[in-house]
Amino acid sequence: MLTSNVFKTAAIQTVAVYILSLLSIANVSAADLTKGNIEKAMSEAYAKYKDLQEGANADYIPALAKVNPGIYGIAVVTTDGQVYSLGDIKSEVSIQSISKVFTLALVMEESGADAIYNNIGVDATGQVFNSIVAVEQNRGAEMNPLVNAGAITTTSMVQGTNYKQVWDKIIARYDQFAGRKLSVLDDIYKSEAATNQRNRAIASLMSAYGHIKSDPLEATDIYTKQCAVGVNAKDLATMAATLANMGKNPVSGKQVIKADNVPEILAIMATAGLYDDSGKWLYKTGLPAKSGVGGGIIAVSPGKFGIAVISPPLDKAGNSVRAQKTIEYISNALGGNPYNVTSR
Ligand code: GLN
Repeated sequence: MLTSNVFKTAAIQTVAVYILSLLSIANVSAADLTKGNIEKAMSEAYAKYKDLQEGANADYIPALAKVNPGIYGIAVVTTDGQVYSLGDIKSEVSIQSISKVFTLALVMEESGADAIYNNIGVDATGQVFNSIVAVEQNRGAEMNPLVNAGAITTTSMVQGTNYKQVWDKIIARYDQFAGRKLSVLDDIYKSEAATNQRNRAIASLMSAYGHIKSDPLEATDIYTKQCAVGVNAKDLATMAATLANMGKNPVSGKQVIKADNVPEILAIMATAGLYDDSGKWLYKTGLPAKSGVGGGIIAVSPGKFGIAVISPPLDKAGNSVRAQKTIEYISNALGGNPYNVTSR
């Protein structure tokens, strides 16, 4: 009798411990993206990196050298539509290469993912983003849509009969991703348009190799304009969150692109989003991401959140120093790495 009671008590205890452990696992995963946890991670990162002064503004586009290097804005938008921001979220910087992701999304929507795969490629070049050697190596093939050669080609693939039609489509889609009307920062556009001989050369080569089928200089100009669109950290985080949420903007509730192509877009971001440092980035965070020489970086934790940081000083690969560190800190604190299933 005594034995059986002891046994029963032990069994009840074991079951109770098991249930409690299940509950605590459930609590951990539910707590990950609470207001408290997100705000804590953001303010810790902000305090840790606000005085960091490594890196330098891009200056190969003259207007970028004049942007205030002190801008430091952070935003997180969850797939259930919570929006958090910290620091300077009013200042806009030019979206630059982050735009490549959203023009890619538009072309996939219009022409299918295979059109990109076949005409541009989806492999890392291992070279700087505006490499001409990378184009020459494979006669314009084996590129990806996130380096300049592939991105200008992507822009050339947007369907439309004239410049205006193509441009209107591009900006309208960006607006939907951001959930507000965006506009071009004219000084940045003019400055880059006057100094983008290298991109014009890249586009001419991509045309010579048959990848750009429209006028390469017009495609370069539209590409230059898309890079000059002004965004704040909240715009960028909302754009990233739309990808985290399978193409549906979690704030506006609008399906911006169909869910089908999102995994391919994220795969390309994981492969080439931070140029020749994409491997290092993926190693540290596991997140598909994209940087721009304006100082912004977006990153996507699929199913969970989009995050963006703006801070203009860049490292040698052309990626914002503070944005990389800040996103790494916040995402890892929130269990954002999709390869780390224990933290879910
Ligand atoms: N507009 C810039 C260029 O074409 C974009 C580069 C970037 O952000 N890495 O050089």
